[in-house]
Amino acid sequence: MTTAEPLPAAPQAGTRLGRYTVERTADLPEMQGTLVLLRHENGARHAHVIRDDENSAFGVTFPTVPRDSTGVAHILEHLVLMGSQKYPVRDPFFAMIPRSLNTFMNAMTAADWTTYPFSTRNEKDYFNLLGVYLDATFFPLMRYESFRQDGHRFEFATPDDPTTELKLQGVVYNEMKGAMATPGSVLHRAFGKALYPDLTYANNSGGAPGDIPSLTHQDLKNFHAAHYHPSNAYFFTYGKLPLERILAVIEEHVMGHFTASELDVSIPDQPPFPAPRRETVTYPSSDVERGAQVAVGWKLGLSSDADANLRWSVLSDVLLGNPAAPLTRPLIDSGLGSALTDVSGYRDSYREGAFAAGLKGLPAGKADEVEALVLDTLRAIVHDGIDPELVASSLHQFELSQKEVSNARFPFALGVMFRLLGPWMSGGDPVSGLRLDAQMERLRADLSGNARLFEDLIQRELLDNPHRVTLELAPDPDLAARAEADEQALVKRLSAEFTDEDRARIVQESLRLKEVQAEPYDPSTLPTLALEDVPTSVPRVAYGKEDAGRGVVGRAAQPTGGLTYVDVQVKLPEVPADLLDTLPLYAFAVTRGGAANLDYLALARRIEAVTGGVSASVGLGTTPDDLNTLRLNVTFAGKALARNGDALVGVLRDIIAQPRFTAERLEQLLKQRLAGMKAGVVSQGHMYARRLAAAQVSPAGALGERFDGLTALNTLKGIVEGGGLDALLERLNRLRDLILQGTPALLVTATPDDVTLDVTPLTALFTGTAEPHHPVITPGARTPQARTTDSPVAFNAVAWQAVPYTHPDSPALMVLATLLRSEYLLKELREKGGAYGGFATYDPREGVFAMLSYRDPHVRRTYEIFRDARAFLNTDLGQRELTEAILSASTALDPLTSPDTIGRMRFYGDLAGYTPDVLETYKARLLATTHDDLRRVMDEWLTPERAAYALVAGRDPNEDTRELGLTFDVQGI
Ligand SMILES: [Zn+2]
Repeated sequence: MTTAEPLPAAPQAGTRLGRYTVERTADLPEMQGTLVLLRHENGARHAHVIRDDENSAFGVTFPTVPRDSTGVAHILEHLVLMGSQKYPVRDPFFAMIPRSLNTFMNAMTAADWTTYPFSTRNEKDYFNLLGVYLDATFFPLMRYESFRQDGHRFEFATPDDPTTELKLQGVVYNEMKGAMATPGSVLHRAFGKALYPDLTYANNSGGAPGDIPSLTHQDLKNFHAAHYHPSNAYFFTYGKLPLERILAVIEEHVMGHFTASELDVSIPDQPPFPAPRRETVTYPSSDVERGAQVAVGWKLGLSSDADANLRWSVLSDVLLGNPAAPLTRPLIDSGLGSALTDVSGYRDSYREGAFAAGLKGLPAGKADEVEALVLDTLRAIVHDGIDPELVASSLHQFELSQKEVSNARFPFALGVMFRLLGPWMSGGDPVSGLRLDAQMERLRADLSGNARLFEDLIQRELLDNPHRVTLELAPDPDLAARAEADEQALVKRLSAEFTDEDRARIVQESLRLKEVQAEPYDPSTLPTLALEDVPTSVPRVAYGKEDAGRGVVGRAAQPTGGLTYVDVQVKLPEVPADLLDTLPLYAFAVTRGGAANLDYLALARRIEAVTGGVSASVGLGTTPDDLNTLRLNVTFAGKALARNGDALVGVLRDIIAQPRFTAERLEQLLKQRLAGMKAGVVSQGHMYARRLAAAQVSPAGALGERFDGLTALNTLKGIVEGGGLDALLERLNRLRDLILQGTPALLVTATPDDVTLDVTPLTALFTGTAEPHHPVITPGARTPQARTTDSPVAFNAVAWQAVPYTHPDSPALMVLATLLRSEYLLKELREKGGAYGGFATYDPREGVFAMLSYRDPHVRRTYEIFRDARAFLNTDLGQRELTEAILSASTALDPLTSPDTIGRMRFYGDLAGYTPDVLETYKARLLATTHDDLRRVMDEWLTPERAAYALVAGRDPNEDTRELGLTFDVQGI
């Protein structure tokens, strides 16, 4: 993060930079940055954040305010990514992914804006991507064929036969049909419409299936011309690249081609309701017992008011932030539903904010009961008063999240963009989103002046506010059939007047679309990085290391923004067979139960008051040069503000040494986990199939299947349905004792001042004498495995055990996986086979190579494609394909780090033998991979004799696969 070069200086307000004027600069002390706000002569707005971060970012955002539900903004987002004037290739965004070392590339459509962001650590890559993004957004081709492919079109069931059934097709059309069948998205859209019936939020910005067909190609182009104009654009740039150079590129590429324009994208106030309303909306489901949700929602004040925004964010966290929170707990304890509704909490994404509370997992017809429960609970909270400690805990959470500098889940740079955009686009002060300290000060002052500030807020803006909606989302078992009939009626109505000529035109346009789709793919007009641009060295981060009893303590001094991170990795002694399968349940339950003298509610409150969260996980790995030597550990981790470092150590100590498991809480937790895993079978079926295949060839794969696979799901189901809770409690307590016999490796990551944190309360817990043990696991027999479930599609997998990390063939296997995925499987399985996805993966630390398909209509055909992968390597693959595969693989080896993760990567990497030298040797071999290497490693390791097969599907596949010589062992899930 720190470099010898000084950061570029911020220009003064009033400075002219070409046709831009600097309107304002502002220090951002919390993130050690400077904000520069500029305006172009044509009205374009630009915010630049100067900050010492190697990850530079860009985003251009357009307010897009649809006036109907034709999905125009969403379909436009799709078309923007489908070729532009300078880059007239089919999919420039997808084509750029393997030609770049980007750390983020995406496009997103919200209810009233559309944004196109990216980030990268490489300067050349930054300007490559900048050119592609600017050309795509301001000069998209928006071809008629693209509109038909991704928007909507008529097509005959047999495209060249006008006597067959006429159908509506289109990527967005089908995408929205899917979205309107999902309870969460139906509820979100209905919520906006119910609270703001007169505003743009009443429209379905994604597109309502019944309205999409009325959008014309010309409407779409008009919408682009009006909205994707510099005068309506908000540019964001971030990092330490020179601002003048970035502005010059934007000026030359974009600004010179436009004159100022006026477009009114303002959203008025929603006229207030004189009295509360009641609405019901349905979605297709037969789950009438538990499929309903009820949300009680209110319209609040303008979300551009920074102080009001913070007040509501804090209050929402106080009321709903954890299982013990005063609004959450009575809702859940009522037993009416199983969890909070999907629209719970405060949201500032509408021009006037909203707050909602309610339940899901309900039978239909519970709106009265939930409404009364929410209102009564709020009245009781106002009457009894809010515990000031809850408010202090919440303020503490805000302080912590505002100080944290992390790329762990999402690039920090783009987090800065989203914090800035909210107030900026709604006409508030853009600085307010980035300088919470001043607002926090004011809130603390307000609170000390009025101890009932939040109670008054609940009374005034919720209980006395008639702009309230009670919204019920109800399952309707007949809706799917009705939607189907509606679609047929729509097709009939729209085609009623069709002449033979029209029908001939539809055939012709279908054939034309097929032609365009079959055009050879040539990304050569797009810019690219070369292999020389890939960094060959691995960052060598300094850390201290000291012995502590039987363990070791590492200390990594990092610019963490005042946060302290503690990791406690415990290498396990020999784990008895009956406890091995319980380990993942232990990790899931141990931080969610109680500890020491605290029950689970008190522990949840304690965690919220002094930490930024704690977690436990099971780690399973191999050694760099042997796939049969398994390493097994449990890691407890947490973060806190540095002033709470000792309290964090105390919480971790209690959780590790004195966890409290009760039958009642355990039953709740196991049901939650089972519901999550069951939902995963159809959303992550390819991963379940992969584990089931890997379990037949690899020791790590076999244990992974018992930990996270369908075997684990069955074990869990057995406990939940068959009792066995007492035996489980006994095993959990034995595991606690076993873990305390383990060998700890602790890491403290903090600023140089705080990194000396005393962790002896943790190291002193481990007094055992048992040595770390390498579990000996034998993979199952190699028999093709099929698991059947309620699914119209299949998830197919084939897996091989290949080589350990330090084997010279490992890097080529990684390149082979990226090449097969992008050049072969995507085309054969997705484009031709109609599967939603096709992948090849190689995890070099597990040594397992796999080919997978996702939501696949085929089984036999897909296994034929897998089998023919070797023949594909003999086709004329060029240097482009190889270079792109190597670039993609090297990105995976070099993830974006941040102060919270870099020390952890190095310390635990070194302990496990993945030292910088080992990683650099790997990288050098990867960059030198040749076509011959790919063929050689495939012949050596990925042969039919060594393959293992598994799939998840709706039915027995054996009739279909018999002629392939594959006979699956079939079991129901
Ligand atoms: Zn989409």
